[in-house]
Amino acid sequence: MDFPGSAPASKLPQVGTTIFTEMSALASEHGALNVAQGFPDLAPPAALRQAVARAMESGANQYAPMAGNIRLREWIAADCEQRTGTTYHPADEITIGAGASSMLFAAIMALVSEGDEVIIMEPAYDLYAPVVRLAGGTVRRLERNLPDYDLDYQGLRTMLSRHTRMVVVNSPHNPTGATWGREDLEELHRCLDGSDAIVLSDEVYGPIVHDGREALSAAHHPALAARTLIAGSFGKVLHATGWKIGWLAGPAALMAEVRKVHQYDVFSTGAPFQAGIAEFLSQEAGQTHLAELASTYTALRNRLCAGLRDTAWSFAPAEGGYFQVLDYAAFHSGSDQDVVRDWTRAPQGIATIPLSSFYDPSHPLRTESTRIRVCFAKQPDTLDLAIERLRRLAGS
Ligand code: PMP
Repeated sequence: MDFPGSAPASKLPQVGTTIFTEMSALASEHGALNVAQGFPDLAPPAALRQAVARAMESGANQYAPMAGNIRLREWIAADCEQRTGTTYHPADEITIGAGASSMLFAAIMALVSEGDEVIIMEPAYDLYAPVVRLAGGTVRRLERNLPDYDLDYQGLRTMLSRHTRMVVVNSPHNPTGATWGREDLEELHRCLDGSDAIVLSDEVYGPIVHDGREALSAAHHPALAARTLIAGSFGKVLHATGWKIGWLAGPAALMAEVRKVHQYDVFSTGAPFQAGIAEFLSQEAGQTHLAELASTYTALRNRLCAGLRDTAWSFAPAEGGYFQVLDYAAFHSGSDQDVVRDWTRAPQGIATIPLSSFYDPSHPLRTESTRIRVCFAKQPDTLDLAIERLRRLAGS
């Protein structure tokens, strides 16, 4: 159908179809194994599915409250207080939205204005930068230090200015699996102390940490928490990304502004999902699920890493989350953008994500990176097939 006028200028001229959509489509076209897009093929716990079904049957089918199901907000507050010692008031400091994405969107739209700068640490999840632009802000990109993708505090100090409105952080990190430690919280606090900068802390993989690491939140540091909005996702922690239930916690004055956007955007989301999640998390089955979550994913990470250990793939095991970065420089010299497409189209192919897609399109890594991201949130059989195909690529 032709639009009968001249179309408005694009607000996001640089944005096309995301690499995640493209790789999933390419994988299904060529019958490739898809370890590209970040979703688990593990089923949500049976007790959770039953709790959601019960919520639907018992009538939780109309609008949930704008700020979210109160039992679920109370659970988020109690869980956060128990883990970190920081108290958020369910009435005005916690909001539930359509996945963490909708709350990250609302936070940036509500708090970033024309002329504001937002610092994003690259490589970075792809949502932040376009939303900053939609809000009229300017993206300032700070690279994480190689080889471990640590945060660059020296760079942060140099980049901070009176225009800095927001600093976006993400741990456990997508795509690299890097996690932060107590000293990072302190460093970040010291860098920002005395400024007006808000921290947007994307903690959607929060409890998923490996090798006995501490599952650290910005809420573990009270002074940092006072300037921070924390995003969480039940999709990630309950193997239910399709339900799109996420949350945001932070100081009431900031949350009041975020809710002004949320109420005209998402307004209210998935009433029976929220009610069922609240019921499940109050049961022993819910507590057991959360207690076992990290070890479930560590076992899958270990399976992948063990399967590739004696090959030409090089990697450092992910510290958290459910992505593993792999480097093929030892056996292939093409750029990751070309290579992942070739490997997806190949017979018995495998779809992964090029790491360079998590950098600005003008970054030199777009043509020089030899790294890919693999999602290991997969059943052991799927993972074994991925290992077999990755080994074959490396000539093993
Ligand atoms: N942040 C990061 C770092 C993510 O990886 C994702 C999901 N891919 C999200 C936010 C969005 O979470 P949700 O599905 O709850 O919207």
